[in-house]
Amino acid sequence: AALIAKDVIALAREAKVTMIDLKFMDFVGIWQHFSIPVSELSEEIFEEGLGFDGSSIRGWAAIHASDMLVIPDVTTAVLDPFMKHPTLSLICNIFDPITKEAYSRDPRNIAMKAERYLQGTGIADTAYFGPEPEFFIFDEIRYDHGPNHAFYKLDSVEGQWNTGRDEPGGNLGYKPRYKEGYFPVAPTDSQQDIRTEMCLVMEQVGIRVERQHHEVATAGQAEIDIRFNSLVKSADQLQWFKYIVKNVSHRHGKTATFMPKPLVGDNGSGMHTHMSLWKQGKPLFAGDGYAGMSELALWYIGGILKHGPALAAFCNPTTNSYKRLVPGFEAPINLAYSARNRSAAVRIPMYSPSPKSKRMEFRSPDPAANGYLAFAAMLMAGLDGIENRIDPGEALDKDIYGLSPEELRDIPKMPGSLDEALEALRRDHEFLLKGDVFTEDVIRIWIDSKMDKEVTPSRMRPSPMEFALYF
Ligand code: GLN
Ligand code: MG
Ligand code: MG
Ligand code: MG
Repeated sequence: AALIAKDVIALAREAKVTMIDLKFMDFVGIWQHFSIPVSELSEEIFEEGLGFDGSSIRGWAAIHASDMLVIPDVTTAVLDPFMKHPTLSLICNIFDPITKEAYSRDPRNIAMKAERYLQGTGIADTAYFGPEPEFFIFDEIRYDHGPNHAFYKLDSVEGQWNTGRDEPGGNLGYKPRYKEGYFPVAPTDSQQDIRTEMCLVMEQVGIRVERQHHEVATAGQAEIDIRFNSLVKSADQLQWFKYIVKNVSHRHGKTATFMPKPLVGDNGSGMHTHMSLWKQGKPLFAGDGYAGMSELALWYIGGILKHGPALAAFCNPTTNSYKRLVPGFEAPINLAYSARNRSAAVRIPMYSPSPKSKRMEFRSPDPAANGYLAFAAMLMAGLDGIENRIDPGEALDKDIYGLSPEELRDIPKMPGSLDEALEALRRDHEFLLKGDVFTEDVIRIWIDSKMDKEVTPSRMRPSPMEFALYF
């Protein structure tokens, strides 16, 4: 049963909580927080909310309208596992203090609207999302943020990223080579214990962990799979996931990153996302079409593929994301689907025959995505496919990496850069505006903020590669 405000207050007392931590998702995709002493906790704040200055949050209100409200979602109460003094954590929604309306640029609000839109269509009542975020745990990183420097040191990966000034050191006998991390036992896998610790903390905050393993890239790439959940809950869990991975790493003097492609020449980190629709407890994706899929599931895939380039603006939202989407590293480039082929953007997992586990796996997203926005956008694209009966075409059951240039030419591609993806979103976003889930304002601010703060500054800055080529 969902907790009500009274129970949360009782829980706080019982656990001798000293602080209440209010967390919310910013526009770009970083959890923000502030805390109040437990003496300030009351039933009112679950209705009236608490004011804060939103003007410094990228993409949010301008200075003249900077006051905003956070209203905690009572169902998200859990003890924060990383704070020295017992602290109760609550995930919040953002509201306009004057109109008391949910803020249209609050990603969690957008995700909630997407769920309501789904229910309003009558197509299904629940969309399940199962993300598989991959990440790297580096031993040590020295990174100079200064604007004129290009000095990086990642001790796990000598020689790849630094400027050549560092000699590899230590005993490298058990160090996996590039693309050989998947997944020999210890001592080659040196991160079992740290991954286990991450899993245990995830369980403490109520996340159901299904599996953990070293990933393909050299020392330090990891994957932890958590159980699928409904859209907003899954996006909430993804935030806890990132928070736990980073804080457990920090506890061990290591640095975890969800940057999609930190190492040249090795696999990047994806966030394959499994999706399925359900109505009144019945799975809607199982049927007798291709790979045991229903017609509805194939239309959903049709929508995802058709809007794939625009989706990339939310699912691959960094300039670095496009360094992952290149041939040869198990990351998709081609917008196609297949049951067998992991080089297609959409795969239909076949290892479980039960209708309940019938789902599609969208393989292009990466963990730099803001889960609320990315999941909402994927759902809207899939629903657009169903509403317009978009045929996904023939399945592509060959190894796409092995096709000739002629054969490849006809297959639609993922965008090659963030600016291409933003341009695709500019052209193709009607499907996101249905039910007011995304608004024109959200689309415009997303594109402008990504261009001004990420695309343009990266374009203007000399990179280590340019020093290698041209210095
Ligand atoms: N790391 C790969 C990617 O970038 C996926 C590898 C895998 O899980 N098979 O998507
Ligand atoms: Mg996996
Ligand atoms: Mg994986
Ligand atoms: Mg996968």
